[in-house]
Amino acid sequence: MRNYREQGKLFVISAPSGTGKTSLVKALLNIQKDIFLSVSTTTRQARTGEIHGLDYEFVTEEEFESIKSSGGFLEWAKVYGNYYGTKSSSILESVNSGKKVILEIDYQGAMQVKKRFKNQNILKLIFIKPPSLKELGNRLKHRGQDSNEVIQDRLALAAEEMKQARKFDYVIINDRFNVAVKKICSIINDESV
Ligand code: 5GP
Repeated sequence: MRNYREQGKLFVISAPSGTGKTSLVKALLNIQKDIFLSVSTTTRQARTGEIHGLDYEFVTEEEFESIKSSGGFLEWAKVYGNYYGTKSSSILESVNSGKKVILEIDYQGAMQVKKRFKNQNILKLIFIKPPSLKELGNRLKHRGQDSNEVIQDRLALAAEEMKQARKFDYVIINDRFNVAVKKICSIINDESV
């Protein structure tokens, strides 16, 4: 009989800002206890309530650059003026030891990971879309985090990002929250057998 170790899986989840990706991932982690969420490294300032090491690893630009130049990132990107990256070490270790790992990253990073794992059956890319750009605009206004100008910039970027959706394996519309969570759960379960 063949002796084999269970293969881990890497799931990338990307979405335009305001689509509800973070809430979806939180709900998912509550249901699927066997998933490991990657903690990214960023140069952005911590928001109120965010914890270093839990939400992000907050670093200076110099520290980010040093990790980058030593080849420590699996992927990295500049998003809304700040740098974000996923460190290779813990991700590869977890996947190699059979774990399911989620990367909640932007589409630029998603495309780098896609390239890195091409022809390997361990990666699935999931893109979350808002029901429409108009609805996304309403959500961003309701969130109350951004000025009108920033909202307009985010909507313009969202329109561009949505064109990238076809490069992902799955596209989910976050119209009804619970339905979207269930869909992501089924993708993860179906892809993990
Ligand atoms: P926020 O600052 O609002 O937490 O995140 C801003 C954007 O950066 C989101 O689209 C988020 O998915 C993305 N992001 C977070 N971590 C990473 C990462 O490690 N790599 C990349 N490429 N994007 C990231």
